[in-house]
Amino acid sequence: MKLTDLFTKDRLSLSFEVFPPKTDTAFDSVKTATEEIAKLLPSFMSVTYGAGGGTSRYTLDIAKNIKEHYHVPTLAHLTCVSSTKQTVRAKIEEIRAAGINNIMALRGDLTPELENSDRSSWDYRHAVELVRDIKEIDPDFCVGGACYPEIHPESANQAEDIRYLKEKVDAGCSFLTTQMFFDNNLLYNFLYKIREAGITVPIIPGIMPITNANQVDRAIKLSGSFMPQRFKSLVDKFGHSPAAMKQAGIAYATDQIIDLFANGITNVHVYSMNKPDVAAKIQSNLSDILG
Ligand code: FAD
Repeated sequence: MKLTDLFTKDRLSLSFEVFPPKTDTAFDSVKTATEEIAKLLPSFMSVTYGAGGGTSRYTLDIAKNIKEHYHVPTLAHLTCVSSTKQTVRAKIEEIRAAGINNIMALRGDLTPELENSDRSSWDYRHAVELVRDIKEIDPDFCVGGACYPEIHPESANQAEDIRYLKEKVDAGCSFLTTQMFFDNNLLYNFLYKIREAGITVPIIPGIMPITNANQVDRAIKLSGSFMPQRFKSLVDKFGHSPAAMKQAGIAYATDQIIDLFANGITNVHVYSMNKPDVAAKIQSNLSDILG
């Protein structure tokens, strides 16, 4: 099932993101958490590739399990930074053999270790090259790409970022998922600019429910996202109480989703981070809106 065939136009639909385990011993608990999320029957689930503390080894196992046993369409993430064409092509073939035809094509982060390593064996510099390879192997793959309402941290300016984004879409991305953001106006502004630049594919906003105060610094560091005063006040007030912070963070994310839908956005991706309770609460908060 191609994700682009599932995107709704008139009603709100939610998808959830999970990440694979970091160690072999964590596999069973992560598998169970992802199954609990699958039971909520989101429109699709994405499984990251080595992001959020997970390794790349289990991405496909988790994605396959969700698809085969819970019949939830899956999106397998794949990164190309520091890889050779041979290993990446083998991964793409593995994904195809698993019956998954949705791939999120990413470069991957340039960690400090990678920044300082020998790049002579690297075959990829940017995600656009991965998009081209996936489409060359099988034009039928539905390929997604990442986009950044607040600009990718390495970009000199937004115009340059959007120019490269257009190149990525033209290479074969059928949809784009955004980096997390905490102020919807930043997304609306971004949408206006990319539409003006001729990018017409569906944009799926990514919403991260911040459910504990420690997550805040990490989220900002990873994404460079702007924290509106409204959100900072909430962390100041509730950050010391885990239960209150969780409730407030879920309410904030719910509110963002309602505002997105009220402004015409129908498909929203939730960075549910292997937390079935958080995914379930957001879904139940929206039960009458989801219909
Ligand atoms: P690119 O599209 O290559 O862009 C990276 C930078 O290079 C940008 O500044 C861009 O403007 C610039 N650029 C692009 N093309 C060119 C070009 N041709 N010439 C010069 N400059 C160019 N990371 C993981 O490790 N695993 C995951 O599963 C994962 N999932 C993610 C999901 C989403 C929705 C998002 C938003 C991010 C995810 N990431 C993941 C993080 C991602 O790998 C990083 O943000 C990474 O730094 C950039 O990846 P990209 O695919 O956007 O790269």
